[in-house]
Amino acid sequence: MKNEKAMWGTEVPVREFAMSIGGQRVTSENTDFAINPATEERIARFPLASREQLDAAVAAAGEAFLTWRASSIAERRAALERLAGKIEEHYEAFLTLLTTEQGKPRAGAEWEIGGSIHWLREIAKQSLPEEIVRDDGVNRVVTRHTPIGVIGGITPWNFPLLLAVWKIAPALMAGNTMVLKPSPFTPLCTLWFGELAQEVLPPGVLNVISGGNDLGQWMTAHPGIGKIAFTGSTATGRRVMQSAASNLKRLTLELGGNDPAIVLPDVDPEAIAKDLFWASFQNSSQFCVATKRLYVHEDVYDRVVAALVDYARTVQVDNGLLVQAQLGPLQNKMQYEKVRDLLQDSQTQGHRVLLGGAPARSPGYFIPITLIDNPPDDARCVVEEAFGPVLPILKYRDLDEAIRRANDTEYGLAASVWSADLEKARDVAQRLEAGTVWINQIHVFGPDIAFGGHKQSGMGIENSLHGLAEYCNVQTVMERPLGA
Ligand code: NAD
Repeated sequence: MKNEKAMWGTEVPVREFAMSIGGQRVTSENTDFAINPATEERIARFPLASREQLDAAVAAAGEAFLTWRASSIAERRAALERLAGKIEEHYEAFLTLLTTEQGKPRAGAEWEIGGSIHWLREIAKQSLPEEIVRDDGVNRVVTRHTPIGVIGGITPWNFPLLLAVWKIAPALMAGNTMVLKPSPFTPLCTLWFGELAQEVLPPGVLNVISGGNDLGQWMTAHPGIGKIAFTGSTATGRRVMQSAASNLKRLTLELGGNDPAIVLPDVDPEAIAKDLFWASFQNSSQFCVATKRLYVHEDVYDRVVAALVDYARTVQVDNGLLVQAQLGPLQNKMQYEKVRDLLQDSQTQGHRVLLGGAPARSPGYFIPITLIDNPPDDARCVVEEAFGPVLPILKYRDLDEAIRRANDTEYGLAASVWSADLEKARDVAQRLEAGTVWINQIHVFGPDIAFGGHKQSGMGIENSLHGLAEYCNVQTVMERPLGA
C-alpha cells in the first residue's frame, strides 16, 4: 500500500543563515525566525540588517560597479552560468528549503527552482547591441545602453527565489551591481543563494541583506541606489514610488492583480475544468497572475461549476513536504488572517459557497479550496486581491458586459480567455486591459516574453529585451572627424 504520509524531503540543508556584503558572510545582532507555514514551527534564525549594514552593502556594490561595468558580455554571461550551476549543484536541497519556508509542494518547488536555473541561463544569452542611427560617412550617431549603477532589488514571499533571479540576472547582465532584500517571510533560499553566489562572483557584485519592511523603505530612499526593482503589493508599490523620488531612482514595479478569466459559451466545460482550476489555485492562489474572477457564460455556467467542483474535490491540500500534497498552506499568518476575514465576509453577506469555506485544520495556515457561486460584483471576494484559495465564479449573458466587468478594476496584470473560436477569443483579448492575456492556456512565462502590468498593477517590464533595457540608461554618442 502507498504510504499516504511519506515525505519527499525532510532535512533543512542549512541552519546558519547569513547576509552577503562585499563578498563577506555577515550576521547581525538582531535576528528573527523564519516559520514553516505548514507546521508553524521555527525553521532558523536570519539576520535583520542595520542601517549601517545597508550602507556597507550599497558601498560594496558601488565599489564593485567600477570594475563590473567594464566587464565584457562574455564574462557576465559566464558569471550567470556559474550562478545557475550553483543552484543546480544544490537542486534537491533548494527544493526542500523552498517548500519548508514557503509551503508549496514539490511540483511547485521544481517549477520555481528549475525556472531559476533556466532564467539565469537564458538571460545570460541576452544583450542589447549598439544601434547606429545615422552614418553618412562623416556624421555618426550611435545609441547604446549603459548600466545604471547599484540596483536595489526587493522581492515578495510567493516565489522568493525565482522573482529574485528575474531581477539579478538582467541587472548583472547589463553591467550593474546589486543589493537584494528578500521578504522577511521567506528570506532563507535567497540568503543561501547569496552565499553560494560569493563563490562565483567578484565581491560586492551581488549583496543579499535581510530585514523587515523598514529595510525596504531605507533602500528606496538610499542615495547610493540608482534603481529599485520591486515586486510586491500595489499599496507598497505606491510607497516605493514616493520614496524613490528623492533621487529620481529608476523604477520597475511588478504589483498586485485581480485577473479575470472569461469563458465563452462554445467551450467543453469538462475538458477545461482542470486548466481553469489550476489557473486559479496554483501556489494556493498566492500568485500575482492567479485567476481571481472567473466569468462564465450562462449557457455553460452550471456545467463549468459542476466540473470545477468535481475536480477540486480530487486535489489534496497538505504539508508540501508530503508526497501526496498538491497544494500547501498560505505562506504566513498575516495572509491567512486576511483570507479568513474575506471568507467571513462572504458568510456574513450570505454568498453561496459551493466548496470549502471555513478553515478546518491546525497547526498550519491552511485554507480549504473555496468556490463561491455568483456573488455580486461589489462583493469583497470579487473586488479585492484575495491572494488565497477563494474563487468567485460569476455568471454573464453578454460578452460586452463580461469584458466591461472584467476591466472594471484598478488592476491590469493579466487575464485569460477560453473559447473554441480563436478569432473571437483574440478580439476579446485585445479589449482586455491587462499586460498579459492568455488564450486557452495560462501562466506561460519565458525569459524572452515581456511581462508587466497595466494600470495599478505596475510599471515597466520584466523579462525579454524590454526587461533588460530597464536596467540600462540610454546613451547617444554623436561624432564626426575634427574639422569636418
Ligand atoms: P508586500 O508589498 O507586502 O512586500 C513585498 C516586499 O516589499 C517585501 O520584501 C517587503 O519587506 C517589502 N516592503 C514592505 N514595505 C516596504 C516599503 N515601505 N518600502 C520598501 N519595501 C517594502 O507584498 P507581499 O505581501 O510580500 O507579496 C504579495 C503581493 O505581491 C501581491 O499583491 C502580489 O500580487 C504581488 N506580486 C506581484 C507580482 C508581479 O509580478 N506583478 C509577482 C508576485 C507577487
